[in-house]
Amino acid sequence: MYKAGFVNIIGNPNVGKSSLLNALLGEKLCIVSPKVQTTRHRIKAFYTTDTMQIIFSDTPGLLNPNYKLQECMKEAIDEALEDADIILFITSVEENPSIPEFLKTLSIPVIVVINKIDLIKTQNQLKEIVNVWKSLLPDSTVIAVSALHKFNLQTILTVIEEKLPEHPPYFDTDSLSDRNLRFFVSELIREKIYLYYHQEIPYSTEVIIDDFIELETFTKIYATVFVMRDSQKAILIGEKGSAIKQLGIESRKDIEQFLGTKVYLELRVKVLKNWRNDPIVLKRLGYIQK
Ligand code: GDP
Ligand code: MG
Repeated sequence: MYKAGFVNIIGNPNVGKSSLLNALLGEKLCIVSPKVQTTRHRIKAFYTTDTMQIIFSDTPGLLNPNYKLQECMKEAIDEALEDADIILFITSVEENPSIPEFLKTLSIPVIVVINKIDLIKTQNQLKEIVNVWKSLLPDSTVIAVSALHKFNLQTILTVIEEKLPEHPPYFDTDSLSDRNLRFFVSELIREKIYLYYHQEIPYSTEVIIDDFIELETFTKIYATVFVMRDSQKAILIGEKGSAIKQLGIESRKDIEQFLGTKVYLELRVKVLKNWRNDPIVLKRLGYIQK
């Protein structure tokens, strides 16, 4: 009796959705940063054992769209709700307990995961928080965890297995994700931009992998970083190229670890005016499927 199904991760920005998914998989697939809206795409990641296959979807945080890119991000969330067998609603101890309206009327099981409990001082405090969440959504299962310290994550997997429908595996039992290596490499570069640049820069950039050449002893990667204005290009490159050099070094380290090979990485910066609102560009970047 094999079990398989779609588990969709939703929650407000910055509660630790991507961190949690990475910790559950024991693999760094999703990018993580202290800035909100790091996750733009919907990523499917597979957790396969001898008895079950969970297809996790990491989605961008819940939001009200301000520009076309955000509209696409919101669509990714709505879509994630449609095909789910189970919803994993992630919150953190930093949030005030409250349940979005649409969750109260769902007919599928909801698991509430309270993340970042490493920030809580006493057991009693934690008990109180868990009880408040339980009272808000009485039919749900509430689990308190820390993605950072990998605490209580097995409980999430056990509860999911209980609730999954009987079904043969949907995807190849060897594969980890529906995205290719190029995608993850571009995400790793984007993550470094979120970590090392400030203000509007991360939100104005996108990364495209132009070439990905696997050689015997190393992999050659050529990537372009798109920005919206000349002034942003100057910031990205930095004085005498110092900033882009640093970006390249930090990105390369992570890409090497991810791919398990040596990497030669070349980054270029290009201005692409107003790409966040341009349907053609958004399509090329994979935000619009149709
Ligand atoms: P997302 O926007 O919900 O995907 O959140 P991320 O996974 O990108 O994480 C947002 C921030 O919370 C990052 O700075 C993480 O390092 C941090 N974070 C994630 N999980 C934990 C946790 O269990 N404890 C603490 N203290 N911080 C965490
Ligand atoms: Mg995320």
